[in-house]
Amino acid sequence: MNGQNLIDGEWRSGIDAFETVNPSDLGEVVGRYSKATESDVARACAAARDALPAWSACNMQARADLLRKVGDVLVERRVAVGTLLSREEGKTLAEGVGEAVYAARCFHFQAGEVIRAQGQWYDSGRDGFNIVVTREPVGVIAAITPWNFPIAIPAWKVAAALAHGNTVVLKPSNFVPGCAVLLGEILQQAGLPRGVFNLVLGDGEPTGGAIIDAADGVTFTGGTETGRLVLRRAAETMTKVQMELGGKNALVVLDDADLDLAVDIAGNGAWRQTGQRCTGTERLIVTRGIHDAFVERLMNSAKRLQVGHALDPDTEIGPVANRPQLEKNLAFVERARAEGAELATGGECLKRRTKGLFMAPTLFVGTRSEMWCNQTEAFGPICSVIKVDDLDEAIHVANDCPYRLSAGIATAGLSSAERFRRYSRAGMVIVNAPTAGLEYHVPLGARAPSGFGPRENGLASSEFFSETKTAYINHGE
Ligand code: NAD
Repeated sequence: MNGQNLIDGEWRSGIDAFETVNPSDLGEVVGRYSKATESDVARACAAARDALPAWSACNMQARADLLRKVGDVLVERRVAVGTLLSREEGKTLAEGVGEAVYAARCFHFQAGEVIRAQGQWYDSGRDGFNIVVTREPVGVIAAITPWNFPIAIPAWKVAAALAHGNTVVLKPSNFVPGCAVLLGEILQQAGLPRGVFNLVLGDGEPTGGAIIDAADGVTFTGGTETGRLVLRRAAETMTKVQMELGGKNALVVLDDADLDLAVDIAGNGAWRQTGQRCTGTERLIVTRGIHDAFVERLMNSAKRLQVGHALDPDTEIGPVANRPQLEKNLAFVERARAEGAELATGGECLKRRTKGLFMAPTLFVGTRSEMWCNQTEAFGPICSVIKVDDLDEAIHVANDCPYRLSAGIATAGLSSAERFRRYSRAGMVIVNAPTAGLEYHVPLGARAPSGFGPRENGLASSEFFSETKTAYINHGE
């Protein structure tokens, strides 16, 4: 596919042509793209600004119908979107198609939000007054997205932004521009007026920075270090900020857990989608009584997982999404071993029928909470086990990490689950299920440094994507 930049309703070529390759088969070019020029980026931001008055005043039914149509087209084209996603990012086809459907649901949900938009009416302490609180669009939204959910993350940001009457300039990751280009095509096909959605391809600097400077709000998903740069940049112009950042998510496994279930959810959280989910499990905190049986079973299940070409029907784990990430994973393994983590399985690249970025599911055991490998995000198919005495120690260890994204517990005890829910400092807590696997109709997010600002998705999305206006009305009655 040959992608371009969508600026004021027109697809335009830019400068600095680049290609994406299939991580399952490095010989296959998936897309050829070119980055937006500085003036293209400026035009995209100006187009979004010019389109704002009409779009924010657009009839609510028309806006809802349009978003619903985008969702419908995403459902119709789910196999095409999912296949492109699998070829460009490396998720298995089932995961890719599932992500396309998830993206569609975000548009369907936000179509409903247009209709459900509410205000508040208050009586006043002053005779003859009442007070009305309404929500208004923020304005131009800069959306900056990572490579690991190439259609879902752009979709949930764009759907929420448009639902609340904002216009958008999207900058996706250069590793996976294909799905963002497809989303632009689908938005056009659904009849979105020109300039309401613009797409610019390019690097974090200068392109990401330039759209932050021009926007009224920036919604960013990516690494925590990049998030700090985005926050500093946005501070210059006091641009409203929402960020979803890195994680080092823990799953606690207590002695009373169902062993089969615990092994299943640990393996799912740690290795499915090649460990490239921000909510994936990287730390397994396991109490003494179940530790040995759990580790043995988990290690065996890791060895059985089918790693291979993302489009092969038997594949359970696709390749690492890109070469820099694979190099980071291998360096992570080396450093963890050097500090004394015991490699139980994995840690190496795998050869398959095609030349791809395949890595074995990796498990470290015998680690301690304070070790570097338990304090640093890997973002690959790598997790480590920490042995603890009891629930209190498990909660302490789960919180003993700078990240605060998601945390899970496997237990048959309702009171243990409730205690964990209450004392975990993560933004999302999951009981007897993988730490990853979030739904689109409830808030998604975390405390700093795993997130910053209002949550995304669900009803919570109105906090970032709209502004409150309080009106005092002296009607004299
Ligand atoms: P990244 O931070 O390298 O890049 C994310 C995006 O930011 C890309 O589009 C990139 O071009 C852009 N960018 C880079 N520098 C920039 C700058 N100075 N100004 C503006 N934009 C800039 O992240 P990645 O490697 O694409 O994604 C992996 C990271 O994303 C992991 O840390 C993962 O945990 C995180 N993530 C978090 C969530 C969540 O919901 N919390 C979801 C998915 C991914």
